[in-house]
Amino acid sequence: MKAVVVEQIGGFRLADIPCPEPGPGEVLIKTAVTGMCRTDLKIIEVGHRDLVLPRVPGEEVVGTVCAVGPDVAPQYMGQRVYVYPGTSCGHCKACLQGAGNLCSGMQIMGFHRDGGFADYVAAPVASIMAIPESCSFEQAVTAEPLSCCLNALELSELQAGERIGIWGGGPAGAFLARAAQAMGAEPIVIEPHEARHCYHES
Ligand SMILES: [Zn+2]
Repeated sequence: MKAVVVEQIGGFRLADIPCPEPGPGEVLIKTAVTGMCRTDLKIIEVGHRDLVLPRVPGEEVVGTVCAVGPDVAPQYMGQRVYVYPGTSCGHCKACLQGAGNLCSGMQIMGFHRDGGFADYVAAPVASIMAIPESCSFEQAVTAEPLSCCLNALELSELQAGERIGIWGGGPAGAFLARAAQAMGAEPIVIEPHEARHCYHES
């Protein structure tokens, strides 16, 4: 299969590599859309303490399940899915408190295992979520950055009719602004770089 491979920090190449086999507890996904975020560029440009090379980057992935591991139910076949990029251990103190994001054993797609800049990606069945029929792959691939924005707005206890200042008008800033607007609030976006003016009032 074709894949983007980072062999050393500072660059990447398009390569032909073997298609992954879904292991126990895993499914194989035919990649439909992989989002690119700042983290991917950071991995390629400066690396990351958790990065093991060579690596296929890409941690925002949607696609269709096309094979399942030996112990995985065949019902997942053909399902359109979003892949949650992190896998926490499930039994440490942080995990038991529901804060799997703080798990010291966290494994992340694109860092510890190969990610979605490839024709196919293998992922734990526990990490996949079915995409509703009403949602396109292009919409579904934004689930993770959008949910971060929704979480921030929830924590801010923003109310309809209030104003909210958003520093940064790139993709995340635009998501925040749109979501704040949908909640009935008035976003004010501050972004000095014209190239990053992703949010336009409508
Ligand atoms: Zn844990």
